[in-house]
Amino acid sequence: MIECTTTSNATFNATKRISESAAEIVRARTPTYVPPRLVKSAGKHKALSPKKAVTKRSENPIKKFTRTDSSTNSTTNYKSKSTCTTFESKQTNKSNTRSKSTGIIRSKQPRAGPKPDQAGTECFDDCTSLDWNEDTFTEPNEVDDERDDFDPESSKTYWTIQSIYQGGQEVVLFPLCKYDTNTTINELLEVLEDIKGERENIIIKKRVISDRNSMMFFKFGPRAVEFNAVRGAFRRAGFGRLKRDDENCKFDTFNSMWSKHLPNQDFGKLKEFQKVNHFPGSFELGRKDTLHRTMGKMRDRHGLEYDFYPKSYSWPESQNELNMDISNSNGKNLYIVKPKASSCGRGIKVINKLSQVKCKDCIIQRYIPNPLLIDNKKFDLRIYVGVTDFHPLKIYMFQEGLVSSNKDIKDKYAHLTNYSINKHSDTFETSEEGDAGSKWTISALKKYFKDNKVDDSMLWRGIEDIIIKTIISADDTVNSMMARTIKSKKNVCYEVFGFDILVDDYLKPWLLEVNVSPSLSSSSAMDRKIKTRLIANLMNLVGFEVCDRRKLKDDAKKQADANLFYKSHAKVKRSIHQLKEVTSQQLNNYMTPCEMKVCQELDDEHRRRGMFTRLFPCKDTKYNKYFVNERYKNVLVQKWIQNKM
Ligand code: ADP
Repeated sequence: MIECTTTSNATFNATKRISESAAEIVRARTPTYVPPRLVKSAGKHKALSPKKAVTKRSENPIKKFTRTDSSTNSTTNYKSKSTCTTFESKQTNKSNTRSKSTGIIRSKQPRAGPKPDQAGTECFDDCTSLDWNEDTFTEPNEVDDERDDFDPESSKTYWTIQSIYQGGQEVVLFPLCKYDTNTTINELLEVLEDIKGERENIIIKKRVISDRNSMMFFKFGPRAVEFNAVRGAFRRAGFGRLKRDDENCKFDTFNSMWSKHLPNQDFGKLKEFQKVNHFPGSFELGRKDTLHRTMGKMRDRHGLEYDFYPKSYSWPESQNELNMDISNSNGKNLYIVKPKASSCGRGIKVINKLSQVKCKDCIIQRYIPNPLLIDNKKFDLRIYVGVTDFHPLKIYMFQEGLVSSNKDIKDKYAHLTNYSINKHSDTFETSEEGDAGSKWTISALKKYFKDNKVDDSMLWRGIEDIIIKTIISADDTVNSMMARTIKSKKNVCYEVFGFDILVDDYLKPWLLEVNVSPSLSSSSAMDRKIKTRLIANLMNLVGFEVCDRRKLKDDAKKQADANLFYKSHAKVKRSIHQLKEVTSQQLNNYMTPCEMKVCQELDDEHRRRGMFTRLFPCKDTKYNKYFVNERYKNVLVQKWIQNKM
């Protein structure tokens, strides 16, 4: 789904209209759940030993559902702290005045009025436009809370992360702190903290660009929300900002566009130095109805391996099946009604009879009646997932995330834990520390589990498993859309998904929905910290290459090469077969230079992953069977990483 960025009164009222009777059903039917290993004692949670907790149940709850390890290739504990950074010693003079030689023209226009973004903070949209053919560059007016007195010279100075391979990618570093031309490495240490695992392998360089064709620019697409986290990330990295387009997007000189989902034909206009924050076809996961359909198909093919998505029915099409389910359960099952293309809890209702369905076009899902409660609160997890390519498929999970809980299971919003609803609840609290109130961080939750001696390792493995399987379910659609729409030789798309996960009292994670445009607005310092880090880390992972646009512009031959891989489908199929026969020892000799580059890029990306953990590709082949079509590059990179120790 696309996440709402504001909660209107209408939403709130709609939520309030959740019938008292439905809320009553929930209250009456929802027993007072005790988390598996936590009991309340004298106002404090007391941990039971895992053994005791298990004997409280007739069987080991973990055995009730099958999980296998999803092996990841990530390493999160790092020993060496040493840095091996190289710098250009040459420093440019800091200049706060607009130099004529830079060609930068200060905007003479008055500032446009502030537009509220989701957090209620102000965002402005008053940049002069950049015309490729004229000697003009925009000067963004930075007026949000991350004001940093933009220095046009900084658009010509970048810190970059080098590839360890000769001729490999050199990408712009997205720091967490502001810097200018005089910044030293110490001032950039904050972002290096995020790259901690690979410090010794990360080579950072200061690049001063003399040619304005190599300057970096970003813009927001038409109607895209201007999140401070996004704007701040590009500004700190030194990108200049281009004017946003009103309706139709102009595919001019930007390197990055943060946009709403593009119309399919627009993906074809992207040039190889450009990147947008969506893949064509990723909507497959983002809408409740398409996710329901996709998950249904995967369940038909793979049975219980896709049982992490609650059994759902499309209304009115599957009325008979739903009716049967209700009668089989003797009215004991509860269902949650969700309008197909809604968000922010709009129109959501809990029912146990068909007669209670008032919605014309919705998804009706089995209600998870036994959520894990912490301090009597139900909660949802928001996990951020970065996908940097679908061919080869590369999935990363952000280590930090959000936990939104409601105040009390007796609260009338008890069955809805999304933030936009609960911020209207009288009992809603936020925490700056990240471990109290209605919003927590994932790390605070992990600490809570640890303090209470709850073994949560299966929970996190289960979540990784859900992420990989869910993204794979969209692989076929996205790849065929990419083949049809994208003309650029290089991958020009990436995406950040917000996975909403509910945990039950067996510590089993359930997928509720996937947000293709997760809200990145911040309502507290904790929120801001997470989202700022998320975007800076994501951009480092994605990698924006410093390149000369003019050289690449309208290069017809390169464009023609672009589709070679996709179009020669038959050849690819034969090659997969050959590739599979290749042994690890033969791999290096077998690969073409292009294939070698794909593998080297995977390595470089992994080195820049910062707070992300790579989930896919992984050495384990157990996920391969979920792909509808086996893909050459997936086999290739898997062989490549299997080859490493
Ligand atoms: P929206 O996109 O409108 O926010 P969600 O699917 O995220 O809709 O549902 C809103 C809230 O309802 C969730 O945060 C969760 O607390 C609750 N919820 C949704 N589906 C279920 C379910 N199957 N079982 C229990 N609670 C659910």
